[in-house]
Amino acid sequence: MRDAASTRFHVMAKPIGPICNLNCSYCYYLSKKDLFGSHEEWQMSNSLLERFIRQYIGSQNGGLVNFSWQGGEPTLLGLDFFRDVVRLEKMYCPPTKQISNDLQTNGTLLDEEWCKFLRENRFLVGLSIDGPEELHNEYRLDKQGRGTFQKIVSAGKLMQQHGVEFNTLSVVNRKNSEKPLEVYRFLRDELGSKYMQFIPIVEPKDFTSVAPQHWDKEKMPILGDERARPGNDESIVTDWSVEPEGYGDFLCVIFDEWVRNDVGEVFVPLFDCALSLWMGMDSSACYFADTCGKALAFEHDGSVYSCDHYVYPEYRLGNIKEKSLAKMLYSEQQVKFGLDKTDSLPGYCRECEVSFACNGECPKNRFILTPGGEPGLNYLCSGLRKYFNHIDPAMRLMAKELKAGRTADNVMKYFKKQSNDQTVPIVSTPKPKAKLNAKCPCGSGRKYKKCCYENDMQISK
Ligand code: SF4
Ligand code: SF4
Repeated sequence: MRDAASTRFHVMAKPIGPICNLNCSYCYYLSKKDLFGSHEEWQMSNSLLERFIRQYIGSQNGGLVNFSWQGGEPTLLGLDFFRDVVRLEKMYCPPTKQISNDLQTNGTLLDEEWCKFLRENRFLVGLSIDGPEELHNEYRLDKQGRGTFQKIVSAGKLMQQHGVEFNTLSVVNRKNSEKPLEVYRFLRDELGSKYMQFIPIVEPKDFTSVAPQHWDKEKMPILGDERARPGNDESIVTDWSVEPEGYGDFLCVIFDEWVRNDVGEVFVPLFDCALSLWMGMDSSACYFADTCGKALAFEHDGSVYSCDHYVYPEYRLGNIKEKSLAKMLYSEQQVKFGLDKTDSLPGYCRECEVSFACNGECPKNRFILTPGGEPGLNYLCSGLRKYFNHIDPAMRLMAKELKAGRTADNVMKYFKKQSNDQTVPIVSTPKPKAKLNAKCPCGSGRKYKKCCYENDMQISK
């Protein structure tokens, strides 16, 4: 955590706090209004914005500095706010660095002027959409309770017309998780999305008042218990939270469609991340990394939190008016937060055959008991385990192709063939002999992933 490379960190900026023009049922951020009290002014001040941009650029030691603008709904701030952002970024960016910007939006306020600005300044836009109309409108509603689908699709078309680079972010919930192919094919074929993020919605019913890791262990349900599933009176999660196994099934079905048809054409960060893990590299997504703590959340009033999912008083690190971002990143509190991800893993995860890829997923979702009664197991465990085991043969094949200097899309012909002849398994499934980061069983003293892993995992066809 403290080495030089670690100064590459990420901040999710929320210049309008939790304020949004929509009222999505599952939003985990609208309720943060209570945290900040009754404000009149949610817009980040110019002086704070300038301080943040200067500090953030100055504290990164990499050549590329990425700004992420989120909310709430950041477009509520208007174009002039973002013109100011670009002006300040140019003012404080030294010739040795490059700036990139991304903006997560519900798309409802985007018009021609916005699109021209986003195109000219090369913003990457993340558009929130949960699938075709019926599925999207289930939870993504405006303040009057009306569906927002048509507006979002229009925003997607407008961005395409103006050449704005955008990707889609779909929240995987209890409803749309039952229709994975409809969701994927809609995004690919009708919206033209080439880059799809899927985020599972997992919310304990008391998430607005109880911070993660502060749950009552006595009340945690055990893996497989009805209380650890949504949609019943005893459940400890909200009705819209995804079913644990349903999440796994959703990913498996989409993966099968992708691996037969779309490798190299459609990018699903979850699959890219898995591929890097199967190649023995680090996770590109914090969810599956063995530590976290390098993705801070920066609020409209200058306060900084351990993570976007940890905006609770218990995880407040300070305010950039009083402390630098770097100081907060390297504080004892934040270093512990990052290391706890592995340190708090239950034995059940440590013994798990896919822990090298899963790492217990995000700690905010670790609120159930293992079959042996140990607390801290991930609510999504059954789905994650299913998904990682399911993609294992394809991942090993793709990793092998890449290591041989060929392209990963060769995998498509194997799996198309396999789907035509289900009786002939074309890929055998050897298992790793140790954890990837553990010492290699051969006694070399090196990490297993850097030593015998590749030989052990040779794909046979
Ligand atoms: S707490 Fe979860 S979302 Fe936050 S950095 Fe860690 S893994 Fe990522
Ligand atoms: S699949 Fe389940 S047991 Fe395995 S590492 Fe992930 S959360 Fe732990």
